[in-house]
Amino acid sequence: MENLILVLNAGSSSLKFSLFAVPAAGEMRAVAVGQVEGLGTAPRLKVKDGAGERIADEQWDKSEVSGHAQALQRIAGLLRSRFQGSVLAGVGHRVVHGGPDYAAPLLVTPEAMRRLEDFIPLAPLHQPHNLAAIRAVQEVQPELPQVACFDTAFHQTQERVAQFYGLPYEYFEQGVRRYGFHGLSYEYIAAALPGIAPAVAGGRVVVAHLGSGASMCAMHAGRSVGSSMGFTALDGLLMGTRPGNMDPGIVLYLLQQEGMSAKQIEDLLYKRSGLLGLSGIGNDMRVLLASEEPRARLAIDHFVYRISRELGALAAVLGGLDALVFTAGIGENSARIRQLVCEKARWLGIKIDEAANELAGPRISSAGSGTSAWVVPTNEELMIARHTRKLLAL
Ligand code: AMP
Repeated sequence: MENLILVLNAGSSSLKFSLFAVPAAGEMRAVAVGQVEGLGTAPRLKVKDGAGERIADEQWDKSEVSGHAQALQRIAGLLRSRFQGSVLAGVGHRVVHGGPDYAAPLLVTPEAMRRLEDFIPLAPLHQPHNLAAIRAVQEVQPELPQVACFDTAFHQTQERVAQFYGLPYEYFEQGVRRYGFHGLSYEYIAAALPGIAPAVAGGRVVVAHLGSGASMCAMHAGRSVGSSMGFTALDGLLMGTRPGNMDPGIVLYLLQQEGMSAKQIEDLLYKRSGLLGLSGIGNDMRVLLASEEPRARLAIDHFVYRISRELGALAAVLGGLDALVFTAGIGENSARIRQLVCEKARWLGIKIDEAANELAGPRISSAGSGTSAWVVPTNEELMIARHTRKLLAL
């Protein structure tokens, strides 16, 4: 009987999942991919099979499916009836925060759950939902092994000096430090690079994960040495609805001069800033690229400007640059943004090959380019499934 691994990524109002079939040998393949959106308001389930064909599209009554536990029960019912001949061997979860403790994925135990709950104050918008999904599985199938994979873990290789803010030392000890996020995406890219770009995989590489959340990671020989994100996923680049790096004095101004509450500032920083706030049009890069509005152009230019600044900073951390890698929704799909970023990175020795860039590479720099540029699609779900398979020895 074939083993299956379920990968879950739980957000505040959403539950994304992928089901992987585990062959006796070789890479796993996704046999179902789906998500529930609108939990708490108008829950809707959409599921596709491994070939992208629709399996389900259901609108649910919110009085019947109010949270993750009920959504999960329904998803489990659907998958059980579709994959009757297979056995679910384990569940892998994306857990945003592993705190200062965890540099690798772990098998969930009651003790580990208590420790992960300690990190809720470090990621109050995400961690509670990630842990709720683990508890929901425990309720339905208590014996099923579960694995927690952290977005922070990959960055634990960074030097100690890179982890500080210039606050009194006791804040570092209580956990106010640079952690970095999107670690599962960077880990996937680090694992893929030797096969795609063997000449640079062991060298100095900056990976730009440009999606609705965006960050950059400096890697040396596949290990993280620097990241644009820090204590929270608000830091670093301009994002879809988040401002990225900004003067903390602005928060004081909003509190003291504008009389805003902490909740209002949280809403401003997580949901109303970034590409959306600057353009006044939206957070979808496709819409902004197609728009004639001057503020759409401003938002795009600022997005690119911030990437170039961060690229310079991370190249300095690495002491030079051998390759730049683009990934995630914008990085994988927008030739225009890649072109604008590469033009600004000419001083680093990057020369773009426009035809290759239109075809999304994988190599998008010209043969004579001293520093190469690449497009590598990320796959965080597969990374979680790989960790789960390894820890469960499947
Ligand atoms: P992700 O969070 O990685 O799924 O990325 C989502 C973002 O990718 C969306 O907000 C879109 O703005 C962006 N995106 C997807 N396809 C394209 C495209 N063809 N051109 C520009 N941006 C895109």
